[in-house]
Amino acid sequence: MSGNEKIEQFVNSANKSALSLEGATGAWTGRDYRESLRDGRSVWYDGEEIDVCSHPRFTGVLETLQSLYDTQYLEENLDTTTYVSELTGNRVSYSYLAPTTREELTTKWKNSHFWMSESLGLMPRLPDFMSNVVVGLYDYKAHAGAVDPQYEKNIERYFEYCREHDVSITHAIGDPQIDRSGSLEDNPEFALRVVEIQAEGIVVNGAKQLATLAPYCHEALIYLSPSFAKRKDPSYVGWFAVPMATKGLKILCRESHCKDSGGHEHRLSNHYDEQDAMLFFDNVFIPMERVFLLNDADTAFKGFFRLNAWALYIGQIRFYHRLKTFLGITSLVSKAIGVNEFREIQNNLGELAVYAEMVRLGLVGMDAEAKPTDSGLMAPSSTFAMDSFAAQIASRISEILRVISGSGIVMHPSRKDLESPELRPYLDLYMRGKGCDAEYKSRLFKLAWELIADAFGSRQEIYELWNRGDVVRNRIHVYQSSPDRVEMEERLTRWINSF
Ligand SMILES: Cc1cc2nc3c(=O)[nH]c(=O)nc-3n(C[C@H](O)[C@H](O)[C@H](O)COP(=O)(O)OP(=O)(O)OC[C@H]3O[C@@H](n4cnc5c(N)ncnc54)[C@H](O)[C@@H]3O)c2cc1C
Repeated sequence: MSGNEKIEQFVNSANKSALSLEGATGAWTGRDYRESLRDGRSVWYDGEEIDVCSHPRFTGVLETLQSLYDTQYLEENLDTTTYVSELTGNRVSYSYLAPTTREELTTKWKNSHFWMSESLGLMPRLPDFMSNVVVGLYDYKAHAGAVDPQYEKNIERYFEYCREHDVSITHAIGDPQIDRSGSLEDNPEFALRVVEIQAEGIVVNGAKQLATLAPYCHEALIYLSPSFAKRKDPSYVGWFAVPMATKGLKILCRESHCKDSGGHEHRLSNHYDEQDAMLFFDNVFIPMERVFLLNDADTAFKGFFRLNAWALYIGQIRFYHRLKTFLGITSLVSKAIGVNEFREIQNNLGELAVYAEMVRLGLVGMDAEAKPTDSGLMAPSSTFAMDSFAAQIASRISEILRVISGSGIVMHPSRKDLESPELRPYLDLYMRGKGCDAEYKSRLFKLAWELIADAFGSRQEIYELWNRGDVVRNRIHVYQSSPDRVEMEERLTRWINSF
């Protein structure tokens, strides 16, 4: 079978329903990945149905993803990113490795560092993230199987299917933000629900907010965040996977931050704006093979934490690389305007360095406390405290760059300004920096601008605050489950009562 025929087979939706491994090619190359997105999906942008592979607002990020897929195949990366599948003999991604030992866990993290470092920590929902939610799903399969043995078989099969086809996945676990005080009894359209259960599958109706990377993914995994899992009405409890090109599914993208300036501006937006989307389900049929849990709110609630065990650790790996990017850019900015030796500036730069080091050490600690799960996989310890910490400093790291860069972050010449013979002498004289010319300084400051000031940076900051779920709920959970709190309350109470 030729490469093109294999991709056609993958794109073919009947094949997807059967979760067939036939034609599987393992870890994507960039070209094949791009072709695999030409599957007839209904992606909407700015009021129009578009082709993701050719729309100018989408091609920059697509190129980044292609390049990442290709880079993993370079000789120096191949053994870090892929291994040979015993099932097919193909090279498959370590993103889909279900680790059973400490060594395998370490190997897995190396692959994640590759993806997150290559993208400067600015593409949080690279496929590596959701591949690891599928690993979590696989880990939780017996619990879903206790509800219905068919779910366990479906999960096992789906896990293999995703690994062997290197399926790129988005997830959508929240309800549309219509009226959080309203009830589902009065407003059934407030959440996605199962409207029909047939022998061959289920029919779902409703919407989901918000699915990052959706237009670049092959599938969406639908499950429920803890805020929404404990439904009274079981028809709202459903875990399933849906290919993007499924009939009745519409993907509405937000305004893209990619701008075709043709110059050195918008480098980050054009390459790393991973997109976010609403998913609209208009009586969508999901074959039973793709259903992983129905009806059981308790199993769904408990499962959320299990599904995310590896992915949230990878979220911290990604956050570490983001902090490094902030540290690097902020330090370079301080040097470019000659303020880096000032005591207060070094204090601020030190704060950034402290954050990066704390997250690095957090990664070491969570890995050191890894334990086998009840299914026999090796999982890192809880990321809850680190997740809350990341949300806490999400805006502070931007503030430091803002404070250090002063007005320079606003005022920098464009490519066309630099090309103007009439303007250039002024730029060379007045818009250069300490030890750097106007050209370099403009490039550097435009990166800084994107990181904290324009639409790309603002969205990233909002992402850092919310991506791990409700910040308040998460911090309350850390407080309530804190062993230190319990121990000290008991110890101090005993002591207080003793004098
Ligand atoms: C950029 C970005 C990307 C994202 N990507 C994804 C993704 O790929 N997949 C995905 O599934 N999700 C994604 N999310 C969604 C994310 O998980 C949610 O934003 C997060 O869980 C918070 O939910 P919400 O936005 O619906 O806020 P809401 O729940 O509507 O909360 C709004 C405010 O009300 C407060 N609040 C809400 N309910 C209560 C209550 N009962 N009592 C008291 N206060 C309350 C909250 O604390 C908050 O301050 C993304 C979010 C962002 C911003």
